Parts: sequence; structure tokens; C-alpha cells
Amino acid sequence: MKKIIFRLTLLLCAASLVLMLTARDFSTTAANNASTIPSTQLGQQNKGQDDGPVTINGHTWASKKVFIESGARCATPPVDEAKQQEIQKSLEEFEARRSEESGTGEFLRAPGSVTIPVYFHVIRDSNGNGDVSDSRLDAQINVLNASFSGQTGGANTPFRFVKVETTRTNNTSWYFASQGSFEERQMKTALRRGGPYSLNFYTNSSSDGLLGWATFPWDYSFDPTMDGVVCLNASLPGGSAFPYNAGDTGTHEIGHWLGLYHTFQGGCSTTNDEVSDTPAEASPAFGCPFRDSCPSLPGTDPVENFMDYSDDSCMFRFTNGQSTRSDSMFLQYRGNPIDDARFFVRQQYLDFLLREPDAGGLGFWAGQITQCGTNQTCIANKRVDVSRAFWQSSEFRQQARTANMLNPFPPPEYNNGQFIDLSYRVYLQRAPNDPPDNNFDGYNFWLGNLNGCTNGGGDYGCYHGIVRAFLESIEYRKRFAQ
Ligand SMILES: [Zn+2]
Repeated sequence: MKKIIFRLTLLLCAASLVLMLTARDFSTTAANNASTIPSTQLGQQNKGQDDGPVTINGHTWASKKVFIESGARCATPPVDEAKQQEIQKSLEEFEARRSEESGTGEFLRAPGSVTIPVYFHVIRDSNGNGDVSDSRLDAQINVLNASFSGQTGGANTPFRFVKVETTRTNNTSWYFASQGSFEERQMKTALRRGGPYSLNFYTNSSSDGLLGWATFPWDYSFDPTMDGVVCLNASLPGGSAFPYNAGDTGTHEIGHWLGLYHTFQGGCSTTNDEVSDTPAEASPAFGCPFRDSCPSLPGTDPVENFMDYSDDSCMFRFTNGQSTRSDSMFLQYRGNPIDDARFFVRQQYLDFLLREPDAGGLGFWAGQITQCGTNQTCIANKRVDVSRAFWQSSEFRQQARTANMLNPFPPPEYNNGQFIDLSYRVYLQRAPNDPPDNNFDGYNFWLGNLNGCTNGGGDYGCYHGIVRAFLESIEYRKRFAQ
């Protein structure tokens, strides 16, 4: 039995005859249903980079230096030394386990293998001012994907981003909400979506002119409501917050959300930001200087790093060390994006219908799952129901034929062998005898169970169990997280 990949709980004949889902045509919409930086640390900034007043969304500072000193560049709360040590110890233990389990000592997940669902929450004042258009949100997603894939010159990290939902709210007190305020908590309590793997990205225009702030992954467990990033609306691509209007505030804050510190964390110390390939830096850089603020330590200042304070046009990369750290941090604290309802539904569209969902269909099917609230049994059953609805859709049957996923393919019913074969192809994206099986043992195991299902071999109660086993299998879940 060792070679049979799917040995999960056999729920084949659990008499869970959940509602018979009628075939839907998926081609149509289913919608009807601050830290303050001590100024003494800034002494090594190159002259000439601090070229006059900075005005951002109506807030003016005498210079970039003053702006940086005010803490408005990034209001993510600082992590003190004791906390940093505690986090680091835990990370090192976690990475030691990953290294051991990998067998080879290598454990970084493949580039682009983790897609993070993004929930945008655009906050406007009561008159509707401060909107961020869909095209600018899409441009922000493009900036994130270019930055995290190394297209701009850095490491090709495991992370990619997909917009799964956008909310727009007119609320003046939330529009001006600042880091740590009552209004921030009120806003997030009302709007936050998804689990720890879901990125909630708010845009507003805080009263103290902050460019942005984030929570760290280790904050999630004790205060999940506050998890996410908040960015100045004018910092998104196409905004007015020059020189911080190319979308890199989003990239920087998401770096924090993934567990990265500023490159100047800890100053000129060997631990510094806990990433070995980002040279130590004494203080934040602004503008785009060339400097070496820790001359006794290797390397010059990483002003081109997304986790510094330089201009958007200056920063273009994460390092391999930052990629590894954020990968471990995500696994340690954030888990698997496939557990997110909208991410899950989108994946059904991609796997069954080979296309992106329409907004109405995505919302409808995700709603089937989110109506369960926190009831895990309900959620697990609804996820199977939703996936089964895709099996029964006419679009999938057509898709399966044109994609030659199965031939011959006699609609409207599958025989058991075809159903098992297709389950491998759709959920695991491979043939039954491809690696890691390398034989038909797994296929025969599941086919035997389906054929022997006492609840009527072709009954939906039996199919329900198979779908569930695939959805909950380690191999399926690993497609999205490990
Ligand atoms: Zn920051």
C-alpha cells in the first residue's frame, strides 16, 4: 500500500448524498444567485539626494530626509531585539526541520509555486474621493509579480499574486485611518477576508501622510483581524506620490507581511536583518545614493533592495536570502492558499475549464463555501460540492473532449475508470501512472473502492468520497504550498 499515494480516509460510501447539483453552464455568469528614525543615523546619506520638499497627497515635508525621519515612509511597527531573537530561533528550528525532511538539505519551494490570493479594499472618503481604479489595482498586481519573480533583477521567489476580490467603501474616518488607530481596527474588522494565507491590501490616505504599513506573519495568530497591508492610494501605479508612485510601497509592505525586515534593521551588526546576502546598513537610504554605511562589514548598502527606503525608481530586487526567509515564514505562519475559498474556486476554473473565472461565477461558488462561516465540516463538504459542480458542468464536458483529456468520452455519464483517470489529470495534473506513482497501483486502489462502493457504484455518495480524497490529499495540497 505504500506506493498508493491516496490512502486518505475513505469516505467513499459515507451516505452524504448532498444536494444533487444540476449541470450548470459555466460559460455564463452565475451571479444571480512608525517607527521614528533617529536623525543621527541619517548622517551618512549622500548629499545631493535630499533635493527639496516632498509633497505626498497634500502632506508636505521639507525634504526627503525629514520625511524619512518622520516615520511616514513606512509605519510598520519596529521589532525589538528580544522579539527578533525569539522569532529567529523559531525560524531556525523550522528551517532545520524543512532541511531534514527534504532529504537533500534544499528546501526552497519552486519559483512561482505559491500564488497568494489578494483582497483589495479601496477606501474612499464619504464623497467618493480617493478611488483606485481596477486598472491601477491590476497594475499593482503586475508590479508585485514582476518584483517577486525577479523580472526587475532580483531573486525569482516562490510567490505570485492574483486579485480575487475588490471591495470599495466610502468612509471618511477609515479613509484617514492611521497605523494603530481605532479606525484602522474598525475598518479591518468590517472588511478582512480569507485566512492567514490571504493578503488583504487596503488603500487609503492616512491623516499623518503614511506611505504604508504592514503586519508581520508572526502577528497573525494573536490578532488575525489586523493582518494585512495598508498603502497610500497615491502610491499605487499611476498615483501622484512621486517618487513613491510606481507600486513599490506595495512590494515593500508585502515584504514585511512575508516576514522581511528593513535592510537597516539592527544597523551595523552581523545579525542585521537576519538575511546573509543583504549587506548590513546603518540607517535608511533615501533617494538613490551609493554609500557604505557599515564600512567594517562586507558589502555596500543595499539601496536597490525593496526593503530599504530609497525611491521606487531605485529599488528593484529581493535577494535569494530574502526569498528563502519569506518562503519559510509563509509556511511557518501562513499555511496553504488553497484553503482560501476564492482561491479554491478559481483553481477549479483553471483545472476544469482551463480559464479564469468570471466575477459572478467566482463570487457565487465561493459564497457556497463562505456561508459555512468557521464550521470546518461544512466547509469541507461544500468544497467537494463545488468541485463536483464543475465535473457536471457542460463546459467541462466540452472542455474535456476538446482538450482530449479523455477519449473516448461518452457524455453525459462517466464510467468509473474514466472518472478516476480524470481525477488524476484534473486535480494532480498528471496521468495515474506518472511519478510519484510510476504504476497503476493508486489508480486501481481508487477504482476498486469506487467499484466496490455499496452506496451504488455510480452513486454521487461514492463520487463525493473520491473527490474529497483528492482535494485533501497531500499531493494536491502540495501543488499550492509545499
Ligand atoms: Zn517598511
